[in-house]
Amino acid sequence: MDILKTENLKSYYILEMGETKKEVKAVNDVTINIHEDEIYGIAGESGCGKSTFLKTICKLVEPPLRMIGGTIYYQIDGKYVEITEIKEEDFRKLRWKYISYIPQGSMNALNPIIRIRESFKDFFTAHQKIENEERDFEEPLKKHLSALGLPVRVLKSYPHQLSGGMRQRTTIALATILKPRIIVADEPTTALDVVAQRAVIQLLKDIQKLQKNTIILVTHDMAVHANITDRIGIMYAGMFVEEARTDDIFENPLHPYTKFLIASLPKMGDKTYKPSVPGVPPSLSNLPPGCPFHPRCPYVMDICKKEIPQLVELNTEHKSACFLNSKERVE
Ligand code: SF4
Repeated sequence: MDILKTENLKSYYILEMGETKKEVKAVNDVTINIHEDEIYGIAGESGCGKSTFLKTICKLVEPPLRMIGGTIYYQIDGKYVEITEIKEEDFRKLRWKYISYIPQGSMNALNPIIRIRESFKDFFTAHQKIENEERDFEEPLKKHLSALGLPVRVLKSYPHQLSGGMRQRTTIALATILKPRIIVADEPTTALDVVAQRAVIQLLKDIQKLQKNTIILVTHDMAVHANITDRIGIMYAGMFVEEARTDDIFENPLHPYTKFLIASLPKMGDKTYKPSVPGVPPSLSNLPPGCPFHPRCPYVMDICKKEIPQLVELNTEHKSACFLNSKERVE
């Protein structure tokens, strides 16, 4: 069953400068389904709308960002609930308990002037009743940290006394202590060295295995996707242009953009030239007509310059938005 789904979701940055109004189409007509108990990765170049998509599905939309259209459903106890219709005060009850959001640069999420234990306590008391400190707070906290392989001694530290990797793992532990059904993580390994990255990825894997929840993970790092995700959605210019099981994306990419992404990855011992995607991404405030990838695509056809290809299922669980793949348009 799906835990979250969107239909024709559109989120734009509306920039008004005097008389002029600019629309930056960061999320442009996105319909996707995220399953229960999976790690769903979202990949794509910087500025393709990945982070804005995450903010929109978490209802973290603040001006100049606006949700222009479409719907977002969470599955709560077997029923789909349209979350844009939930009042903010009611939605607050879902945050962290049902869906938690680990933002980019989340290492700064910890209060720098209090010890980690106090940050956990502030967070805990805001969402749970503590009648007996030992039973309701200390015990579950220590249990949670040791289940995630984090030393209990971090609780006595101030954030600046921890390494970047340990701080990030602590932040993730904080965001998951209430066992949310969905964890949304935006570039959680950025700015970490390779060893710390591996520890954070392993931590996310462990959490998912323990809590059997769903992780939606944004990263531009395809190696991280290969390591941790079950399925991947590829975003380009605010749209999902391909979606498949992770193995399929790496072994049999269908969309020309994804093919470039995969072909440009370095391989052990292979020193041959790796082609990167030609040209530059389009401006989201001035998208080309038709397929947004057409100015960069080596396979461009006439139809690509006029019509927007839809994301359609071609093989089991493998979708692509390209006229080259949809036989009926080419024949
Ligand atoms: Fe290239 Fe056309 Fe496919 Fe777009 S629809 S990716 S331009 S072949």
